[in-house]
Amino acid sequence: MSTLFISDLHLCSGRPRSNRGFFRFLEQEASRAHALYILGDLFEYWVGDDDIDDPFNTSVIAALARLVAGGVPAFLMHGNRDFLIGDAFARASGVTILPDPSQIDLYGRTALLMHGDTLCTLDLEYQAFRREARSQSWKDNLLRQPLTERKAAVEALRRKSEQEKRGKSTEIMDVAPAEVESTLRRYGYPLLIHGHTHRPARHVHTVDGHHCERWVLADWYQDGSYLACDASGCRALQLSPG
Ligand code: MN
Repeated sequence: MSTLFISDLHLCSGRPRSNRGFFRFLEQEASRAHALYILGDLFEYWVGDDDIDDPFNTSVIAALARLVAGGVPAFLMHGNRDFLIGDAFARASGVTILPDPSQIDLYGRTALLMHGDTLCTLDLEYQAFRREARSQSWKDNLLRQPLTERKAAVEALRRKSEQEKRGKSTEIMDVAPAEVESTLRRYGYPLLIHGHTHRPARHVHTVDGHHCERWVLADWYQDGSYLACDASGCRALQLSPG
């Protein structure tokens, strides 16, 4: 048995292939795991918990609830697309929402879990937006709008961010090496697991003489994949073919 990590699924009703992969993953690989950690951007976007009655959202919540009812604890960290997921979602699905970052004991090793966007400190424009969007007043303001208007507002934000990304270099949109190093130092040289950049890899950072593993999770745009960790270490695995 192992503990599984996924992120950046970007589920939405318009991406049936990823959705099928996700439902199958919950029924198969995840159902045999010690625990499942979803490290952000489970959804393409989440406009508020009053949207849990949307048929697609209901199907995702029901699938997570089945996993949890089957005895597999599931944890969810907010991503930059779905940070409005709240307590109603958590109650309905049975998942536990984790703060970003969170430290866990992973078979005797300390693992630091993050979505990953806070490591991208070279992207000043994004970090300024993030600070604003995570403020209570920004969230209250958005949540006060009717659901349909909110969806349109979030769609507009997404288009703007896609546009801006085209003008940004890959270095700017990747994690900042200095931020990774200071994070590893601050948390006592843990194993670091995050997503967000969509650049799956295993990195080894040497910080103050400590060798720290950093796993970057893959997105699910093409084929789903996950990280499986047990007492012997972590492996990145592809979904079983459907
Ligand atoms: Mn992200």
